[in-house]
Amino acid sequence: MSKPVRVRFAPSPTGPLHIGGVRTALFNYLFAKKNGGTFYLRIEDTDQNRFVPGAEEYILEALEWLGISPEETIGKNEKFGPYRQSERKHLYKQYADLLIESGNAYYAFDTAESLDAHRKQHEAEGKTFIYNHHNREKLDTSLVLTEAETAKRIANNEDYVIRFKTPVNETLHLKDIIRGEVKFETNLLDDKVLFKSDGMPTYHLANIVDDHLMETSHVIRGEEWLPSMPLHVMLYRAFRWDAPEFAHLPLILKPIGNGKLSKRDGDKMGFPVFPLEWKTSEGVSSGYREKGFFPETVVNFLALLGWNDGTEKELFSLEELTQVFDLKRVHKSGAKFDPEKNKWFNHQYLMKQEDLVLAEQFSKIIESKDLNRYFSLVDLAKIVSLIKERADFVSEFYDMSDFFFIAPTTYDEKASKNWKAETPALMQELISVLEEISDFTSVNIETIVKDWMTKNEIGMGKVMQPFRLSLVGALKGPHLFDIVEVIGKQETISRLQNAINTL
Ligand code: GLU
Repeated sequence: MSKPVRVRFAPSPTGPLHIGGVRTALFNYLFAKKNGGTFYLRIEDTDQNRFVPGAEEYILEALEWLGISPEETIGKNEKFGPYRQSERKHLYKQYADLLIESGNAYYAFDTAESLDAHRKQHEAEGKTFIYNHHNREKLDTSLVLTEAETAKRIANNEDYVIRFKTPVNETLHLKDIIRGEVKFETNLLDDKVLFKSDGMPTYHLANIVDDHLMETSHVIRGEEWLPSMPLHVMLYRAFRWDAPEFAHLPLILKPIGNGKLSKRDGDKMGFPVFPLEWKTSEGVSSGYREKGFFPETVVNFLALLGWNDGTEKELFSLEELTQVFDLKRVHKSGAKFDPEKNKWFNHQYLMKQEDLVLAEQFSKIIESKDLNRYFSLVDLAKIVSLIKERADFVSEFYDMSDFFFIAPTTYDEKASKNWKAETPALMQELISVLEEISDFTSVNIETIVKDWMTKNEIGMGKVMQPFRLSLVGALKGPHLFDIVEVIGKQETISRLQNAINTL
């Protein structure tokens, strides 16, 4: 019987979560949901030097915003807790000891100075120093000391690390769900440090011990961890534990040029690379949330970075993704990040939102401005329905619709040329026509105004352009009679009057 699906997102709290990390979390979440499994989050904070305050909270908040919160984590269903590695510190030493006992690991007492000297000497000979099977017996390790000598040096509080004793002359044929078979030559690997004398494990040891103890069935993570896979599989073997299955996700590439999308690219290229804004004393890094992206948009574009469902379909809700996501359809090659396409996705989700919901968001922007004209939420929703077709973000609404809120004080010069000698009289007549209308709705106003023009044989252009100019101050904006309905009779007439007096 196969193990129940349990997958994890295991970030190190070294700063804001990069969008690539968010995709890793998303794919783990989707895989868990698709397979009726559990998605948990573990904080890998064994490297205290790289710990950044606030990063952990940031990670959890970002996942919550996107709707992909873990089912188990710090303070939530702590079935396999603690979920913070620094709080599991006491657990790891015994496992390092087990590896020493079974001959899979050894103590190394080399000082930083002696390692540096080895490095320099190798360099002088045109070689690179690697701590591996070639060197380990020439170095200061328990492999060349007697047990008593080793014990004495440890008892004397000498600094040491515990290193993995990589087997020699082996070709490892490993299986990756996305990449198929991956081969590694053990002779090309170095003997990684597993445990340090400060009592802390390194990433490699803590990660394997925890994935085992927390019953992880699949390790789904970024391609940058592929080189660690042979060590991890050898560690499982050394412990005689069943290894989880592995899937290494393709890199996310820069929109132009080569290479991986980095944390610094966002501010350089003018788009966010973080889900949420991140503020430090050095400045602010922009976030998708604060830029006005919907969480649905971010989930959707991240899902398509390295995956598709085999059709041309591009719009997927989180719910749909949990039904169709398949690790076997994840690509091997890197996925280009496309900030322009991301805006297109946001437009699609903007169009799907209820006008009233958008109006609520819009009203926050309106409230922050000192406007003399306030609309009800229902009126705002009408405005939204008239302009959203051309917007990607709610933040663009105001510039597209400012004339609803403020009467024009100046008039577009070019458009003003259509204001002829007979125009004021025509506009005055129009005012009289409008005054008589009691059902002041777009279609009705349009019918009545057009009837009046037909009856009096007045050309369209003679009325419509000056009318629009009077209301908007320029020849732009949505359907004129829709504007008239929203701003209302009194405001329409007052704007016409203003134009007559000014132009
Ligand atoms: N702590 C590692 C990271 O920061 C986890 C890598 C893994 O998933 O094994 O990404």
